[in-house]
Amino acid sequence: MRIARFSIDGTVGFGVVEGDQLDIIKGHPFAGVERSGRRVPVDKVRLLPPVLPSKVVAVGRNYAEHARELGNAVPEAPITFFKPSTSVIGPGDPIAYPSFTSDIHHEAELAVVIGRLCREVPAERAHEVILGYTCANDLTARDVQQRESQWARAKGFDGSCPLGPWVETELDPSDLTLMCTVNGEQRQLGRTSEMVRSIAELIVHITASMTLLPQDVILTGTPAGVGPLHVGDEVAVTIEGIGTLTNKVVQR
Ligand code: MG
Repeated sequence: MRIARFSIDGTVGFGVVEGDQLDIIKGHPFAGVERSGRRVPVDKVRLLPPVLPSKVVAVGRNYAEHARELGNAVPEAPITFFKPSTSVIGPGDPIAYPSFTSDIHHEAELAVVIGRLCREVPAERAHEVILGYTCANDLTARDVQQRESQWARAKGFDGSCPLGPWVETELDPSDLTLMCTVNGEQRQLGRTSEMVRSIAELIVHITASMTLLPQDVILTGTPAGVGPLHVGDEVAVTIEGIGTLTNKVVQR
């Protein structure tokens, strides 16, 4: 099931995407999906970020080739950092190039959407806390990241976390193709099977220290091929079985 968050005529809601139609659901999808019977064409609504996370917990250097391309080793324990709620934008939303950096990079990533409150989750129960999966772009001010030991500014700026276009709830995430294109040209290509740590391992690691809430998001790292974006570029993250998240870089 593909669950999208949308707005139409000033109303915000969730719906199930079926072909070119959106089947509007009652309430929200975190306590079970109940269809309202009202349908609207997908192209008549504005798709929003599929969730509004209280926090995005991101994992660095979880693909060995990407760690290598930036001259880093694969870390002994996962590197985690936050992207704030204000970094989240939706499919089609513009990426406003910030003035504090001159080297924004794209990082295509599989995003895990948490479906229920959880802490200290054991590996064998990790699947129970996942609502589904969506595409993410862990936009990074690479110049600032290299200057500052904490990545709050480099990876947490407004608009630095495009998410979407929807949450796919029935998907085996263990071996999916993920790709990033810029202006239609392929920049990143990898498979989720190349992750150093699996999604279950990441959930165990993260929830050992903090509670995750429904709508929270885990970014699982990016494959090799990261590179700069410029004003006017159209960047697209495509993940097999989910879809494509497209955003355009604009002058702030
Ligand atoms: Mg990343």
